[in-house]
This record gives sequence, C-alpha cells and structure tokens, in this order.
Amino acid sequence: MKFDILTIFPQIFDSYLKESIIKRAIKSRKIEINVHDIRKFSKDKHKKVDDIPFGGGAGMVMTPQPLYDAIKCVKKSNKGPVVFLTPHGATFSQSKAEKLSKHKEMILLCGRYEGIDQRIQESMIDMEISIGKYVLTGGELPAMVVMDCVSRLIPGVLGKEESHMEDSFSKKLDRKKEYPHYTRPAEFKGMRVPEVLLSGHHKKIEEWRKKKLK
Ligand code: SAM
Repeated sequence: MKFDILTIFPQIFDSYLKESIIKRAIKSRKIEINVHDIRKFSKDKHKKVDDIPFGGGAGMVMTPQPLYDAIKCVKKSNKGPVVFLTPHGATFSQSKAEKLSKHKEMILLCGRYEGIDQRIQESMIDMEISIGKYVLTGGELPAMVVMDCVSRLIPGVLGKEESHMEDSFSKKLDRKKEYPHYTRPAEFKGMRVPEVLLSGHHKKIEEWRKKKLK
C-alpha cells in the first residue's frame, strides 16, 4: 500500500513513522509512505499557502494553487483516491478502513486553518473522511489515524498475519466486541487472572471469552 500525504507540516509525521509496527512495515516494504510539503508547491514569493476568505469571516483559507499543483504532481505516481480529511466527511470506521485497504494506493490531504478552497474540494477530491464529530487544528492526526488503521489490515504488517481479524469491529469476525485480556504475572497486587485462562483448556477458554464479550 502506498500513501502519499499532503500537508503544510510534514515534520509532524516524523516520529510516528519511525516507531514500532509502522516503522517495520515501511522497512519490509509492506507499506510506502511519502510525506509532501504543500508549501513547496506555492508559487507565491513568500511561499504563502493561505489567504483571507472572500466575503469576510474568521480565519484563513488554504489557497487553491499550491493544493492544485501538489495534488497534480503526486497523482503522477499515485493512482489511488484523493482523500480529504475534514470534520464534515463520512465518519471513519473499521469497515471504511477495510474498504480502503483494498486500494493499492491513496493520497491523504491534510487541511489547516478554516479548510481548503471549495474549488479544490469540488474538483480534485474523491472522498471526504472525518475521524469524529469534533474539530482539530489540522488534518495531520486524522491522516495518521487513517494510515495506521488501514496499514494494520495489509497482509504481513502485523507480526501475526491474521491477528487484526480478531480485533473489535472486524468484519471477518462479525463482532463489535472485545473480551478482557490478561498477561503475566498471574497475580498482581492481590488481583488474580481468571483460573480458566491458566487452565490450558482451549474450549473452556473460548467459551469464557464468548461470555465476557463487551
Ligand atoms: N472550519 C472547519 C469547520 O468549522 O469545520 C474546521 C477546520 S479545522 C480547524 C482545519 C483542518 O483540520 C480541516 O480542514 C481538516 O483537514 C482537519 N480536521 C479537523 N478536524 C477534523 C476531523 N474531525 N476529522 C478530519 N479532519 C479534521
């Protein structure tokens, strides 16, 4: 899976991409992530990417030219959908992630300020995704949420190939719930792990987990 991410704050992604599962997935080439600085595409002599809104009102709006050129450029090597992260998009979910994971490539566009010029939204965006009914300062965290959630569905990204199928909300498992997890030690500050989990009796463990789904 190839992700091309468009942002005016590319460094926000640095540490996230250098840790844990995502780092390993990049290294093993299960995923490829390219972060592009929209500002570099600005033809303004001060590399401006925002301007005041026509008609007045609070805040600034991302200007169309740098966005247009950045999307055009990235589309040359990425044929996937252009996804704009916006609080007004369709709410992201596990099933949306599963659908997105069927694509081989996608472009994630992060907004800032009051958002992007409507003409870009209408002419260049294939999909609008919200990560929830609240407003953040930018689309970078939402882009990371989408990228992380989709990546762990790519075969081979999680150490244990199929482990995402046991996750809550997974379509394959057809359940929206999760059972409680315990690890060592068997007793912690007087609290014992349920005996059945220590029994090694797989059928009984499965029955217990079914009962405990929440
Ligand atoms: N003026 C917009 C409004 O009232 O809905 C808010 C813009 S927000 C401050 C700036 C950018 O953050 C948005 O363009 C979008 O890219 C991103 N963003 C903020 N909240 C988001 C959310 N819940 N889901 C996805 N993207 C979000």
